[in-house]
Amino acid sequence: MSTFQAPKGTYDLIPPKSGVTLAVREAIAAPLKNSGYGYIETPGFENVELFSRGVGESTDIVSKEMYAFETKGGTKLALRPEGTASVLRAALQANLHKLGNLPVKLWYSGSYYRYERPQAGRYRHFSQVGAEAIGAEDPALDAELIILADQAYRSLGLRQFRILLNSLGDKECRPVYRDALQGFLRALELDEDTRRRIEINPLRILDDKRDAVQKQLVGAPMLRDYLCDACKAYHEEVRELLTAAGVTYEDDEKLVRGLDYYTRTTFEFVHDGLGSQSAVGGGGRYDGLSEMIGGPALPSVGWALGVDRTVLALEAEGIELELPATTSVFAVPLGDEARRVLFALVTELRRAGVAADFSYGGKGLKGAMKSANRSGARYTLVAGERDLAEGVVQLKDMESGEQTPVALVDAVNAIRERLA
Ligand code: ATP
Ligand code: MG
Repeated sequence: MSTFQAPKGTYDLIPPKSGVTLAVREAIAAPLKNSGYGYIETPGFENVELFSRGVGESTDIVSKEMYAFETKGGTKLALRPEGTASVLRAALQANLHKLGNLPVKLWYSGSYYRYERPQAGRYRHFSQVGAEAIGAEDPALDAELIILADQAYRSLGLRQFRILLNSLGDKECRPVYRDALQGFLRALELDEDTRRRIEINPLRILDDKRDAVQKQLVGAPMLRDYLCDACKAYHEEVRELLTAAGVTYEDDEKLVRGLDYYTRTTFEFVHDGLGSQSAVGGGGRYDGLSEMIGGPALPSVGWALGVDRTVLALEAEGIELELPATTSVFAVPLGDEARRVLFALVTELRRAGVAADFSYGGKGLKGAMKSANRSGARYTLVAGERDLAEGVVQLKDMESGEQTPVALVDAVNAIRERLA
C-alpha cells in the first residue's frame, strides 16, 4: 500500500473542486439560517448506546455499518453514522427543550462514518448538512423542512431531483399494520436473513431492492390503508402545504427508510442522474426518538442531505457553480525593493477585502507570470525599480492584456474601483 493512499472508501477534497463542496454546504445551509435554524456542532463520536438505542439495533447502520470501538479506558464509543441522535442528545443535555421556545430549530454540517461497500456515491466517510426541528407536532413544520431542502437544491440549479413522500403512521396505527405485514411476509419464500428481518424490522423488506423479493410483495398490505384518522389528517395537511408552496412531490407508499425512529411524515430526495446511489437526502418525523434515548416526549422532524452525492448530482446535470474568484489580483515583484513594496500592497489589498496573492520564492518574470495565469487573477500587479522610482505599479488586465501604470499611493482604490 502506498503511503500516500487515503483509506478505502474515503477521498480527499482538493482545490479547485473542493470549492464546489464548500459552495454546496453553504447553499444547503443558507435557507436554514434564513428560517430560524441555529447552528449546532456535536462531537465526531458518541457513546455507542446513543446509536444502538436511537438509530436501532435492527438497522443496517447499527448492525453492520457502525465504526464502534473501545477506548483505552474501556469506554464504548462509535464514530457517528448520522446526525439526528447526536443533535437530539445535545439539545436534551443543554436543556434547550426547557427554555420555553419550541420547536428548537437546529442545523448542522459535518462528517459521518459508515462501514459500507465503497462504490460511486457511497463512501465510508461522507458529509451531510442536516436540520432538526425538535419539540413540536405541526404539519407546517414538516412542510417547512421539505420546502427548504427543495429551495436549497433549486438554488444550486438542480432540476432532475424528485421528492418521494410517505407517512409511516404513529404508535397507534403502525403496530396494527406491522402485524398485518408480518402475517403476509411469513407466508412468502424468503431467505433466512430476510425471514429474520420479518421479526425485527418488517417494514424494511418493502424496500428490498431484489426483483425476486419485489415480485412476491405484490398484494402486500399497504400502510396507507392502516393509517389512523389523526395520521391521515396530518399527512393530508403536509401534502396540501407543499402543493400550496408549489413544491412537487410523489406519493410513494413503499418509502420506509432505514432508520427505526421515523413516524408519520417520511421523505426522500432522489436524483435521476446518479444511478443506483440515487438518494441525495432524506428525513422525516421521529416522534418517539427522544423517549428511546431516555428523554421526555418530544415530537420532532428533520432531514439530512448528502453533500457528496449533491456534488455528483451537479456533475450529472452539467451544472458549473459560479464560484467567487479565489484570487483577483496577483503581484509580481521584480527585485528586492519591489518585493517589499508589493508585499505591503498585497497586505493592504487583503485588508480592504480584495482577494490577492503574491509571487513567492524569488521567481523570475516568466515563472511569476505563469503563476499569475494559473491563479486565475483578473489583474496582475508588476513593479520593477524604474516603476518604483516613478511612484507607480503596472496593472495588467489579464483578459485584454492591457497594461496601465497606477500611482502607488492610490493603487488600492484604483484596483477596488476596477473590480467593482
Ligand atoms: P442509502 O439508501 O443510499 O444507503 P441512507 O438511507 O442510508 O441512504 P440516510 O441515512 O438517510 O441515507 O442519509 C442521508 C443522506 O446521506 C443520503 O441520502 C445520502 O445522500 C447520504 N449518504 C448516506 N450514506 C452515505 C454514504 N455511505 N456515502 C455517501 N453519502 C451517503
Ligand atoms: Mg445506507
